[in-house]
Amino acid sequence: MSDALVQPVVKEIPPKAADLSAWYTAVCLKAELVSYSPVRGCVVLRPYGYGLWENLQKHLDVAFKATGHENAYFPLLIPEGLLLKEAEHVEGFAPEVAWVTHGGQEELTERLAIRPTSEVIIGVMYAQWVESYRDLPILINQWANVLRWEKATRPFLRTMEFLWQEGHTAHAHAQEAREETLRMLEVYEEFARDVAAVPVYAGIKSASERFPGAVETYSIEALMPDGKALQSATSHDLGQNFAKAYDIKFVDADQQIKHAYTTSWGMSWRMLGAMIMVHGDDRGLRIPPKMAPLHAVFVPIVRSNDDRAVAASHEAAASLRKAGYRVKVDDRDQQPGWKYAEWDLRGVPVRIEMGPRDVDAGNVVLVRRDRAKGDPDQKAIVPLDQLAQRLQALLDEIQASLYAQAKAFLESHTFAVSDRDEFYAKCKSRAGMVDIPWCGREACEAHVKAETSATTRNTHPLDVVGARCVACGEPATVRAYFAQSY
Ligand SMILES: [Zn+2]
Repeated sequence: MSDALVQPVVKEIPPKAADLSAWYTAVCLKAELVSYSPVRGCVVLRPYGYGLWENLQKHLDVAFKATGHENAYFPLLIPEGLLLKEAEHVEGFAPEVAWVTHGGQEELTERLAIRPTSEVIIGVMYAQWVESYRDLPILINQWANVLRWEKATRPFLRTMEFLWQEGHTAHAHAQEAREETLRMLEVYEEFARDVAAVPVYAGIKSASERFPGAVETYSIEALMPDGKALQSATSHDLGQNFAKAYDIKFVDADQQIKHAYTTSWGMSWRMLGAMIMVHGDDRGLRIPPKMAPLHAVFVPIVRSNDDRAVAASHEAAASLRKAGYRVKVDDRDQQPGWKYAEWDLRGVPVRIEMGPRDVDAGNVVLVRRDRAKGDPDQKAIVPLDQLAQRLQALLDEIQASLYAQAKAFLESHTFAVSDRDEFYAKCKSRAGMVDIPWCGREACEAHVKAETSATTRNTHPLDVVGARCVACGEPATVRAYFAQSY
């Protein structure tokens, strides 16, 4: 088969290293994850992209239920009067809220906000549901869409409407709420590491990066190949702020009336954006097997009217499906090389090739997407009767290998810096995660931002007593990762 048939698909993706942004957009569109829509700021999630979302949902939902949570669903619209009750919260979201002002022809007496997040409407309901300490804790998660008015559009990273989950819990004691906040941070960290194969730093957000109305915000932060950080999930300890604003009160065991302590936590489809950028290469997506809508694609090879490989592929695929694998047979009337390029672009972890000679020998050829073309262990010949076990072993290996590569990148692009000039230079040049003893002052953070465009991503405990802030020289209170961010 001629190269002319292979090239067209791949050629349209710019090299990843040269222009990550152009590469990213091209891959999201060409791999058919999303399409732009006639609605400004909104993308269509196509079936292959929705498959990624479903796998995220499936894994996270199991983790939520294992930690005692249940799913529920709340209204999309929030009356303005309710939104105004928590001052910091409304101020934080005001620039991004979209309003419904009319119902049919009739102007509404009270505007309705399209939820940018659901603390408000959920808080109001919790106030109705909670009477006694026996009603606590409430542990609820919602899978939903939310809307925030955005100027720019980038698939998964910046869209007006996006998909996410938001957990909302209410507790009798401050300590319980804090434990819940940290437990869910850990769930997110584990998901990123073990499912999406994306290593992250978990820590506490600085005051200026805190969720509006929260007492403390925690986040997980991933590092993209261009040296910018991407916040991949957040978990908020809301203290009694929302309970006081929305009147979530209960009679405690000591007969005293008290306000509850609440939390909220969320991961959105941004996580998919992180996964795409971290693992992809010049041929397109490389999807970690646990997230892949398809584990493997069969490409049967037909030679001069010998099409036995087609039937044999369908038979092998059917038995893999029975064993729980997500597989497909690509028996379209196209050159194999064209199909290889397309499934490479779409990041399917394993390609299974079978031609007439393989049918005779009772073999298939397994080709790993995560390895470069021509790599000695890119291909393996496997007896058909061992296919399921060899495929499983290979998927496990690919999952681990993608994580190891990403981890090596994060580690080699994390810099513990103690020199002021070096700190500013590394922030400015987008070197990666720049880790310093930090004073925790907003003025210091604002100065760094103005000079370098970098901000604190999150903070972790200080390891040396008496350390000074590398950015400004004041006494340090924590260590902070600084980076430019998405
Ligand atoms: Zn400082």
